Amino acid sequence: MPRVYNFSAGPAMLPEEVLQQAREELLDWRGSGMSVMEMSHRGKEFMSIAAQAEASLRELMAIPDHYKVLFLQGGASSQFAMVPLNLLGGKGRADYVDTGSWSKKAISEARRYCEVNIACATEYRAPSQDELQLDPDAAYLHYTPNETIAGVEFPYIPDAGEVPLVADMSSTILSRPLDVSRFGVIYAGAQKNIGPAGLTVVIVREDLLGEPRSGTPTMFSYRIHAENGSMYNTPPTYAWYLAGLVFDWIKRKGGLEAMARINRRKAEKLYAAIDGSDFYHNPVDRGSRSWMNVPFTLADPSLDDTFLAEAKKHGLVTLKGHRSVGGMRASIYNAMPEEGVDALVAFMAAFEKRYG
Ligand code: PMP
Repeated sequence: MPRVYNFSAGPAMLPEEVLQQAREELLDWRGSGMSVMEMSHRGKEFMSIAAQAEASLRELMAIPDHYKVLFLQGGASSQFAMVPLNLLGGKGRADYVDTGSWSKKAISEARRYCEVNIACATEYRAPSQDELQLDPDAAYLHYTPNETIAGVEFPYIPDAGEVPLVADMSSTILSRPLDVSRFGVIYAGAQKNIGPAGLTVVIVREDLLGEPRSGTPTMFSYRIHAENGSMYNTPPTYAWYLAGLVFDWIKRKGGLEAMARINRRKAEKLYAAIDGSDFYHNPVDRGSRSWMNVPFTLADPSLDDTFLAEAKKHGLVTLKGHRSVGGMRASIYNAMPEEGVDALVAFMAAFEKRYG
C-alpha cells in the first residue's frame, strides 16, 4: 500500500523523511544500542535529544531568551485550565475572544476559575482589533489564532495592551514566522504541526512563572515544569524526540519563511478551486480563512459519502468534516506535500464534472 494523502485535522501527516529517519533509528539510536523509547529521560543520550529539540525550536521561532519552552503532556485541553490557574495571580477576571468551538472550550474551562469577559464573539470570521472590548481588570487576553473546526484564522496578532496575550496555537504553530515577543503564553498540542500526539508545547514568558492559584495540582504548575526542565515527571520522551526530528526537517526545508510560502500557495490553490465552482462552498470570510484547515461543503450533501468513498480510492483520505459541521475538511499542515493539494484539487474538479 503506498502512503496516502491524509487530510486529518490531527493526529495528522508527518513528513515522510522524518518517519524514515525514525525507522532507521528505531532499534538503535546512534550507537546507543537502545531505542529512544527505552532510554532513561535523565540519561545523557536523552538529555542531548531533548536539548537539541529545544534549541531547534528556539532557532526556528526565534524565541527570545526570556521565554521558557516546556515539553508537557495533557494536550491543549489541559492548557485550558493551566492558563487561568497560572496567570490569574490575584485577579478574578480574564478576557477571551470567542471565534468558534475551541475558543468556547477554553472559555468554559476558564469559567471554573474566574469571571470571563467575552471581548468579542464572531462566527466565520476573526474580529478586528477595534471590535475587541477589553476589560481593564483582566489578568490576560486569550484567543485562538486558528479555529481548527471552522477554519477561521486571525490575519493579525491582537493588541492586548498591558496584559499578557495568550494563544492556543495548536493548529497554526510553525506554519509561518511569528513574533513571539508579542505573547505571554503560546501553547499547542503537538499532533498537527509538531509531531505525535501526547506532547504539548508551551512557550511562556519568564515573568509569568509565578505561584499558581492555591490548590493547583503540582503537575499543573508552569513554574514547577520550568524549574525542572520539563522533567518533574517522566516526559513523553519519544514524542519529544520526534518533534525534534520535525523541527530539523523544517530547518532543512528553509525554516518558517519557506513553510509560509508553501502553505500560502497550497491554501490559495484549494480556496481558488472552491470559489471557482458553484458546486463547492466555504462560508468563511475571505480575510479570515485558515491556511491549515479548509472546510467545504458540496451543493448536494447527499453526495458526501460518494465524494469520500471516491476520494479514498484516489488515496485522498480523512476528508470528512468535523461531526459538528458536516461536509468536508481538508487539513493541510506543513507535512502535507503540495502534490497532495494538487491531487485533491484535480479530484474535486473531476468529481464536479461527473456529479455537479
Ligand atoms: N485547541 C485547538 C485549536 C485544537 O485544534 C485542538 C485539537 N484539535 C485542541 C485545542 C485540543 O487539543 P488536545 O486534543 O491536544 O487537547
